[in-house]
Amino acid sequence: MKTDYLIVGSGLSALVFGALMAKSGKKVQILEAHEYPGGFGHTFTLAKKYKFNAQLHYVWDCGEGYTVNRVLKHLGLDKEVTFERYSPDGFDHMRMPGYSLDIPSEPEKLIQRLSTLFPEHTNNIQRFISEVQKISQGLKILSPPIISTELFKHFGVALRTLMYLNSTLQDVFDKFKLPQAAQTLLALQWVDFLLPPNQLSFYAWVILFTGYQKGAFYPTKHFEHVINSLVKVITENNGEVLLNHEVTNFIVTEKTVNGVIATDKITHQSHEFTGDTIICNIDPKKAAQMIGMKKFSRTVRNKLDYDYSPSNYMAYCVVKDIDLRDYGFGKWNTFHIENHDLNQTFAQMYEKNDFSHPSFAITTPTLLTSEERDCPEDCQIIEFLTVANYNYFNNLQQRDKKAYRQKKDEIFESIIDIVEKYYIPNFRKHLVFKVTGSPTTNERFCWCPNGNSYGSNLTPKNMGIGRLNHQTSLNHFYFCNASSGYPGFAPTFWTGANLYQKLSGDMILAKG
Ligand SMILES: Cc1cc2nc3c(=O)[nH]c(=O)nc-3n(C[C@H](O)[C@H](O)[C@H](O)COP(=O)(O)OP(=O)(O)OC[C@H]3O[C@@H](n4cnc5c(N)ncnc54)[C@H](O)[C@@H]3O)c2cc1C
Repeated sequence: MKTDYLIVGSGLSALVFGALMAKSGKKVQILEAHEYPGGFGHTFTLAKKYKFNAQLHYVWDCGEGYTVNRVLKHLGLDKEVTFERYSPDGFDHMRMPGYSLDIPSEPEKLIQRLSTLFPEHTNNIQRFISEVQKISQGLKILSPPIISTELFKHFGVALRTLMYLNSTLQDVFDKFKLPQAAQTLLALQWVDFLLPPNQLSFYAWVILFTGYQKGAFYPTKHFEHVINSLVKVITENNGEVLLNHEVTNFIVTEKTVNGVIATDKITHQSHEFTGDTIICNIDPKKAAQMIGMKKFSRTVRNKLDYDYSPSNYMAYCVVKDIDLRDYGFGKWNTFHIENHDLNQTFAQMYEKNDFSHPSFAITTPTLLTSEERDCPEDCQIIEFLTVANYNYFNNLQQRDKKAYRQKKDEIFESIIDIVEKYYIPNFRKHLVFKVTGSPTTNERFCWCPNGNSYGSNLTPKNMGIGRLNHQTSLNHFYFCNASSGYPGFAPTFWTGANLYQKLSGDMILAKG
């Protein structure tokens, strides 16, 4: 039977698109270079007993009627793939010396908490939070497909939203004259973008911040179960997910993409794969370079001219004979910074590779669900995440492997010094396993150019009207990836489902 949709890459948007198409009766074939499916969302097992998700921590839009839930319902998975909610009273715990703020779901409660910390700025805080809620509404109205009756009804909000098209989060902090410490507390989830306020698109921040306010979630049976369930829908509906198959080239005649050439990484044999339509889940710029930029229209070439998001550093750890709940951890993330200036701290780490005063995120997946364990009974998993510069780590790794390992260790020790000082005094004593990942680890296991974390950089330039979408200008060829939609778990669900809607005419996503 011929393949209707040949998909290159098994990242989340590809799996969602593939599962929806397979369920609708189309023949789907996915080629994935890695030994695990899921891209950034893949799960790996180390020491035969510890399971870590490569990058995902918490997700939004999973509640009843929201994007993820709608897709899962359509696939008949909504009873099987369920989610646990983070604490609505404080899903993100922001910590810096002298200040502590738990971000609650309720905007009014957030205003109260900030006003207690900064009493002489209550008015500006109120105006800022209220503006964020309005812009969140405006972004929904302006997101495709635009419904004209909605647009006319909320014309004022839509217009107000458009005024921020080129704004960074810092521009808006300045406009509302928020005190420096309040800015840092509000933007301390910066690792969710790997950009500081003076570079981050205000739109990107509003979407994520308000998305998590409406509900921050973790999958009941961990992320691995979500990925496996999507793969199962594909395979049970006559489709295939071929792992260890690296696509090395596209088969193109004139302006039409007919298939790909892929190498089986086990047998080292190369084969041709064809399909009626080719879906590209790998980085769009990298794919376009493989095909030849000249084949694409000028408009698409301009859209492909994006810079990559910075890369990251991860430490995956296992602690034994300690309950992290006794040390202030629970159904929330913790974000830490040493000084009050986030822009400066980011530059210090990212541009100077100086991690002596790092800012980082702490997540504790074992505490988020009790249904299935990702490690033995007497252990808990704790992970640390911060930014890291690809060029710096790549040079180190090429030049001097020992120096590369030392730098990874230096960052780890610097983070753990802070953890022992403020959170878990005897952390090192309980640490039984750790593995660290750098930008080159990302590139190696997630196949992302320059180890980029979120695809195209989340700056106003890339988040504006010139943003790439599924259209490639070539025949029978579509992009379906974070950079041609939006990065994140829920946004890549949206990206895959949106392309499915466009190609099938089956409208499954609600507006808003
Ligand atoms: C550090 C970090 C933390 C994150 N945390 C969160 C979070 O907490 N919540 C959240 O919502 N989002 C988070 N994200 C973002 C989210 O993980 C991604 O946006 C999303 O998973 C991207 O999906 P995608 O569909 O674009 O595909 P990708 O994940 O980019 O997958 C692309 C796939 O293509 C494959 N591939 C590439 N080249 C080839 C080739 N030549 N041949 C065959 N296959 C190939 C790759 O191996 C990969 O499987 C995080 C990302 C990072 C880096």
